[in-house]
Amino acid sequence: MKTVQVNVVTPDGPVYDADVEMVSVKAQSGELGILPGHIPLVAPLQIGAVRLKTGKSTELVAVSGGFLEVRPDKVTILAQAAETVEDIDLTRAQAAKERAEERLNTNKDDIDFKRAELALRRAMNRINVSQNKI
Ligand code: ATP
Repeated sequence: MKTVQVNVVTPDGPVYDADVEMVSVKAQSGELGILPGHIPLVAPLQIGAVRLKTGKSTELVAVSGGFLEVRPDKVTILAQAAETVEDIDLTRAQAAKERAEERLNTNKDDIDFKRAELALRRAMNRINVSQNKI
């Protein structure tokens, strides 16, 4: 099977680097499946899971937005934050979810509402990736 090299990079450093047969991401325009040899492309990403398939195994990385850059032999994901399943602290994500939900229920300020909504989406994404509910 042909493979493509995938790098997930954050301001804190590299999070993932491997050759895979297919990578799926949640772009702002919708789900994108990338196979080796794909035409060059740049796309903004949603908060979501990156799925990395090789043979029968699928690895997941939680990504908090960012950009996807595709070249025929290489896919780079530049994210503000990203974690592999092993690196996700589920208790922390659950606490972040509860904090965000509390803020959404009590705060009337628009800016705080948007911030809390994004924090909630990041937390739910980490929980889903950690529990493999993607
Ligand atoms: P929290 O309120 O728990 O900090 P957050 O969504 O505000 O969550 P971010 O600003 O997205 O956190 O990320 C800050 C840093 O902490 C990043 O390096 C990110 O990878 C890491 N991080 C955030 N939440 C978790 C988690 N549940 N498990 C592991 N790493 C996390």
